[in-house]
Amino acid sequence: MQKAAFPGSFDPCTMGHLNIIRRASLMFDELVVVVAENRQKRYLFSASERVNMIQEMIGDLPNVTVVVWDSLIVDFLHREGIRILVRGVRGMEDFSYEFELSMMNKALDRKIETIFMTTDPEYFVLRSSSIKELASFNGNISGMVPPLVAEALKKKYGRDLS
Ligand code: ADP
Repeated sequence: MQKAAFPGSFDPCTMGHLNIIRRASLMFDELVVVVAENRQKRYLFSASERVNMIQEMIGDLPNVTVVVWDSLIVDFLHREGIRILVRGVRGMEDFSYEFELSMMNKALDRKIETIFMTTDPEYFVLRSSSIKELASFNGNISGMVPPLVAEALKKKYGRDLS
C-alpha cells in the first residue's frame, strides 16, 4: 500500500496542480492533497474554500483525499505514516527551490522521499500568483483554472472592487 502526500498552498488550485494530482493518483494507491494553512501567509481563499474547490475537482478520483494542515509537513507525514512527498516542477527555478525544500525535509527525517514530477508542457506557465493577478485585472483565465475556480476568482475580485 503506497501512500503519498502532495502539499501546497493551492490558492487557488490551477490546471497545473490538477494535472499533477491526476497523474500522481495513478502512481500511488492513495494520494492526500495537503492544503497549507500557514498563519504567516496571507491567502486569497480561506483553507475551507481551497479544500472545497479541490474536492469538487477530484470527485472522480476515489483514491485522492484533501486535508488542511497548519504545521510542518513532516509532522503530518509522521501522523499519517506517509513517507512520500510529491512536488510539481515547472522549470529550473522551481527545481532549485524544491530541491532545497526536500533537503530540509530529509534533514528532519531521512526516510522521507520527495518525488519531483515535471509539469506537462501545456501547464508550465501556470502559477497561482500570476493567475490571481490576471483575474484581478479581469484578464481571461479560462483554460488556466477549472471553471469553478474561475467563477470563485471572479466573485472574489468583483466583491473586493465593489
Ligand atoms: P504555486 O503558487 O507555485 O502554484 P503551491 O504551493 O500551490 O504554489 O504549489 C504546490 C506544488 O504544486 C508545488 O510543488 C508547485 O511546484 C506545484 N505546481 C504549481 N503549479 C504547477 C504547474 N503549473 N505545474 C506543475 N506543478 C505545479
